[in-house]
Amino acid sequence: MKLSYTALKTFQQCNFRYHLRYNRGLPSRPRPAAQSSRALHGALHLFHQGLKQQHPSDPALFPPTANALDTLLAHLKGYYDNPLRPLTDEQYQEGRALLMRYWEAYRGQFPTPYLLEEKFTLHVGPFVLTGRIDRVDDTPDGFEIIDYKLAQRSIIPPDPLQLDVYQLGFHAQTGEAAKKLSFYYLRTGQTETVEADEPAAAQSRVRGLCRDINREQEFHPQEGAWCASCDFREFCPTQSRTPRPIPAKGRATQLGFDF
Ligand code: SF4
Repeated sequence: MKLSYTALKTFQQCNFRYHLRYNRGLPSRPRPAAQSSRALHGALHLFHQGLKQQHPSDPALFPPTANALDTLLAHLKGYYDNPLRPLTDEQYQEGRALLMRYWEAYRGQFPTPYLLEEKFTLHVGPFVLTGRIDRVDDTPDGFEIIDYKLAQRSIIPPDPLQLDVYQLGFHAQTGEAAKKLSFYYLRTGQTETVEADEPAAAQSRVRGLCRDINREQEFHPQEGAWCASCDFREFCPTQSRTPRPIPAKGRATQLGFDF
């Protein structure tokens, strides 16, 4: 069974929500910000890919426009002009403003990316943990994982679980350990950086959580601030005296062996 950071986080917050989404396979509602997020991640990816492909040892091969703001904005325009997945005018204008702020935050001096949009897959007991890391920089202090955040309108401390999952993913792909993880908040232009723990410690915590998921039988609801964004309130006994019955059709709920 596949798991992601989002699935692990959902289980940590509310077993019942996890059960409905991942065991019963109920769909989430589409998020309006998803298109913007895809376009911004894509524009940043293409921009940093251009920087990575530069030849720093030979300035003659250094394209002068590679780190220019216009280059970054042109990548977003490419998404805006795409007839298949167009952004609205409002999303495009907001995206331009966020990318201008991003570029200004670095003042055009960008570190060399070590990895970009790196997918990872690793096995934890019977689970396959998958994910994608936005960027890893090779800095004088060691490897730094960068995650672009669009959803949050205010700074929140990086989630230790996400740190663990990214550290494991990075380690699985490269055999290296990251020193830091930074969240770049696109809406505010701020960065939050924390020290990353050793891969062995991260693995122990993630493995423990996966074991909890594998053993769980009851999947009780747990109320919290996350209920406000829950797609399954109509099925939840904490939200209604007469919740809708859960659709009968679903996936297997237990994998049937311990680890
Ligand atoms: S409304 Fe809250 S308690 Fe109910 S399933 Fe959703 S997250 Fe869990």
